[in-house]
Amino acid sequence: MTKTELGRGERVIPGLWRLRLPLPWPVVPHGNAYAIAAGDGLVLVDCGTNLEGSFEALTLALTQVDLSLKDVHTLVITHAHSDHWGQARTILDKTGAELWLNPNLAHARSAYGDPEQALQHHFEIGIQSGVPEAPLREFLEQHRGMPSGVDALLEPEHELVNGVSIPSDLGDLHVYETPGHAPSHVSLFNAEQRLLISGDTLLGRVSPYFDFGFSPDPLGEFLGSMDTLEALDARLCVSGHGRPFTDVRAHIDANRELLSQRLDAARAGLNHEPQTALELIPAVFSEPLTPGTATWRLPETLSYLTHLKRLGEASRAPDPASSASRWIAAQP
Ligand SMILES: [Zn+2]
Repeated sequence: MTKTELGRGERVIPGLWRLRLPLPWPVVPHGNAYAIAAGDGLVLVDCGTNLEGSFEALTLALTQVDLSLKDVHTLVITHAHSDHWGQARTILDKTGAELWLNPNLAHARSAYGDPEQALQHHFEIGIQSGVPEAPLREFLEQHRGMPSGVDALLEPEHELVNGVSIPSDLGDLHVYETPGHAPSHVSLFNAEQRLLISGDTLLGRVSPYFDFGFSPDPLGEFLGSMDTLEALDARLCVSGHGRPFTDVRAHIDANRELLSQRLDAARAGLNHEPQTALELIPAVFSEPLTPGTATWRLPETLSYLTHLKRLGEASRAPDPASSASRWIAAQP
C-alpha cells in the first residue's frame, strides 16, 4: 500500500456513510466499510484488511465525515474475507464494540488459521485440478510468509443468521444469509429505505468469486442468494467494492446471465472431451489461461463442475496417468 492511498469517507444517505478503504490488490484496489447511525453511536459494517496503514485509512475515512471510531458500538461483518474483517480484533479492542458474525467459518479457519495448512490445501486442489506440480510449488512458495491481512481468527460473539436484525436510525437492518461468494456471507436489508447492504454477493460490476471447497455447491448457493436478494425488492444497494447503485434487479439478472453462460460453456467443454478443471478454464471464460488469473478462475471453474455434478450432468474420475481428476459429461 503506497502513502498516496488514503481512506475516504462520503455520505450515501442521511445516517449512512461509505468508507472507501485502499487494498493492495491491482484488480481490487479498494473495498468499502459502512458506518450507520444507531442511537448514541454507530454500527460499523465491515472494517477493511489488516495491513500497514489499514487502521489509519479507516480512521481517516471516518474523520472526513465527522465520525469517530470510538462511537462504534456494533461491528457487523458481511463475510470473513480479509478485506472485510481483517482488522476486526483491532477495532473491537479500540472500541469495546459487540461483534456480529456468521458462524460458517470453516473457510476462514482454513485460509487464515495455519498458513502451512492453507498452502497444503491450495496444493491439493491445484494438483487435483491438473496444475503441473513444479509451477504450483513455485507459486505457493512465493506466497509463503506473506501477511494474511487478518489480525485474529475470531468467533462470533453474536451469530449473524437469518431472522436476526440490528437496530439503527434508518430502521432495523434485517439479516439474510447469502452464501456462495463465501459460506459465511450475509446481506442486510432495511425495509424503510429499501436499502440493501450486499457485501460481495452483489457488486456494481459483475465479478463472481466463489470460496470453493467448504460447502457442497457454491454456485448453487450463490444462485439461491440471488433469489433471496431479488425477493427483497431493494431500491438502493451499497456493496463491498465500488459505488452505490440503484438498478438492483438488473444487477441480479446480469449475474444470473453471466453464470448461466459460463455454466453452459463448461457443459459444452465436457461434451467435447473429458478434461481437468484447469484444461476447461479457457473454454469457460473464452480467454487463454494465465498464471495471473488462474487463482480465481480455478475455484470458479470447480464451482461450475461441482454444480454440474450435483445436477447429474457430470462426474469426476481419477486420471490414471497423473494425480489429477478428469471431469466427464454424464451419458444422456
Ligand atoms: Zn469477499
